[in-house]
Amino acid sequence: MTTTPHTDRPTSDVETVIIGAGQAGLATSHFLAERGHETVVLDAESRVGDNWRRQWDSLRLYTPAQYDGLPGLPFPAARWSFPGKDDVGDYLELYAHEFDLPVRLSTRVQRLSREGDHTDDRFVITTDRGTFRSNNVVVATGTFGRTPNIPACAADLDPSILQLHSSEYRRPGQLREGPVLVVGASHSGADIAYEVAQTHPTILAGRDCGQIPPRLDAPIMHVMFPVILFAWRHVLNRNTPIGRKEMADIRFHGGPALRVKRADLAERGVERVTARVEEVVGGLPVVDGAPREVGTVVWATGFRQVFDWVDLPAFDERGWPREMRGVADEVPGLFFCGLSFQFSFASMLLPGVGRDAALVADRILERSAGLLVAA
Ligand SMILES: Cc1cc2nc3c(=O)[nH]c(=O)nc-3n(C[C@H](O)[C@H](O)[C@H](O)COP(=O)(O)OP(=O)(O)OC[C@H]3O[C@@H](n4cnc5c(N)ncnc54)[C@H](O)[C@@H]3O)c2cc1C
Repeated sequence: MTTTPHTDRPTSDVETVIIGAGQAGLATSHFLAERGHETVVLDAESRVGDNWRRQWDSLRLYTPAQYDGLPGLPFPAARWSFPGKDDVGDYLELYAHEFDLPVRLSTRVQRLSREGDHTDDRFVITTDRGTFRSNNVVVATGTFGRTPNIPACAADLDPSILQLHSSEYRRPGQLREGPVLVVGASHSGADIAYEVAQTHPTILAGRDCGQIPPRLDAPIMHVMFPVILFAWRHVLNRNTPIGRKEMADIRFHGGPALRVKRADLAERGVERVTARVEEVVGGLPVVDGAPREVGTVVWATGFRQVFDWVDLPAFDERGWPREMRGVADEVPGLFFCGLSFQFSFASMLLPGVGRDAALVADRILERSAGLLVAA
């Protein structure tokens, strides 16, 4: 990497810039680094894995450790155990360290654009710690984005009601006294409702996203999990009609319950309502047609992609990248990794991201070789 110092903000030239040092960015960097390709991985966090460490205290993966290793480094835990959030954060940090990946932390990308209008013009990556120019860019900033997707009616809730997005929830002790309304019944919402129901009357509102019947820790899962994983990788993908249908469901509505089942919620006395929460009357959330007195609302309503910092014509009307398997054909040199259904259901998972990262790395190497020949 060559660096041209200007005042206090240098400009660095590098072959490929990867934005995001989560599992997707690190796996892509690993594939490129092992083939001698020059990369830098930029991340806004001050420590690799911190967005996992900030999850709720009791979070455990639903994928067993033996499937959670990224390419080249098994997850250091018992095969059928379910690692906690800090274990995942520490594993990602270990991965970056083990392969000596070129990660630059505390560096937020503010803008991504091109130097000119030609497809072989270099990308310009503007950060709060200098500017980078590169031939290729991989945007690996998260499966669903990191912007909480909170309904507009939240603004009308009485200020005495504590509101949290699921990404801010840590433990029941954080919540106000009185009933808790958890909005969104995908697996984050179900996990949180199940936990807070131990200490608070709890309502879980949102459509039923289905459930995978056996218990994750049941011995039968030793046989079933590989089959489920096979389906997530090879059946539910963008090449199959069922995969394309699932893609829309997962991207915009959330996935099936995995750890906490309907019966668990019922057993803990969680009131289950499948209507959406979209209205507030007199400062109270309307649940199934009636305003309800609650102390806390947890919005487990997911995230949305906000790519307003990317000044390139690569997005559809809903703001999702127009890409196939992470390759944005309309903007040569622009790649994505870690997107929900980048290729299959497994794309967003530790057990699935490696395959996508390998393909993106291959396309980058082909492109860079082509540019070299053309020069
Ligand atoms: C609650 C929860 C439970 C899950 N459970 C499992 C599970 O059991 N098993 C499993 O396999 N998967 C699970 N997942 C899914 C999956 O592993 C995650 O979605 C994963 O974090 C995606 O990795 P990523 O690298 O694509 O993105 P992220 O982990 O979100 O990493 C993106 C990185 O990009 C950085 N970034 C973003 N914008 C910028 C910017 N502008 N400039 C610089 N840096 C930036 C962020 O700081 C972050 O470090 C779970 C996810 C959640 C939320």
